Amino acid sequence: MSPPSDFSSDQPIIVSACLLGHRCRYNAVVRRSERIVATENVVPVCPEVLGSLSTPRPAADIDAGCDGGDVIDGLARVTDTDGNDVTDSFVKGAREALRIVQSSGARRALLKTRSPSCGCGELSRSDGTRTPGNGVFAELLQRSGIEVEGADFDREGSGPTTVDPSSNRTPPADEATELEELS
Ligand code: SF4
Repeated sequence: MSPPSDFSSDQPIIVSACLLGHRCRYNAVVRRSERIVATENVVPVCPEVLGSLSTPRPAADIDAGCDGGDVIDGLARVTDTDGNDVTDSFVKGAREALRIVQSSGARRALLKTRSPSCGCGELSRSDGTRTPGNGVFAELLQRSGIEVEGADFDREGSGPTTVDPSSNRTPPADEATELEELS
C-alpha cells in the first residue's frame, strides 16, 4: 500500500489518531486507513481525548446551522446525545492538539472526515444529514495556517474492525453505520 503521493515523508504530518487504528472513537470501534498507516513521519492526535473525553463516549454534534468556527468564536455549543454540553472539552482538546501540532513543526494535517472535531469542509449531523463546515479542531488548524485534508477509514470489511470489550454499548448495525460518520 503506497502512502499518499503528495506527502513528503521528511516532513511531519498530523493525523487523526483514529485513522491509525487508535481506540479513541466515540463508540470505541477500531478502524483505520491502511494508506495512512503506511505513511511515514505521522504525528497522531485525538483532540477529543486531549479534551479529557472518555472512550467510549456519547456521540456529539455542533448546534444546527453552525460549525467549528462558531464554536471557537463562542457562538455555538457542542452537545452530546445524552444532552451534556461538551463545548469546553472540544475547545480545550483542540487547543491542546494545536500545541502538539506547533511543537512538531508540521504544516499539514490529514483529518478524519465529517467529525465534529476533525471534519474539514463537511460535517455529519446527528439527524443523519451532512452540512458544509469544519469541525472545531480542523477550523483551529486552518486559522493557524495548517493545511488540512480530509481522510477516511478503509471501507468496512477491508480491514480489521474490533469493539473494545470494556465498552458497555454495542451499537446495532444500522445505528453503527449511521453514527459511523460522527466518529
Ligand atoms: Fe479523535 Fe474523533 Fe478526531 Fe478521530 S475524528 S481523532 S476520534 S476527535
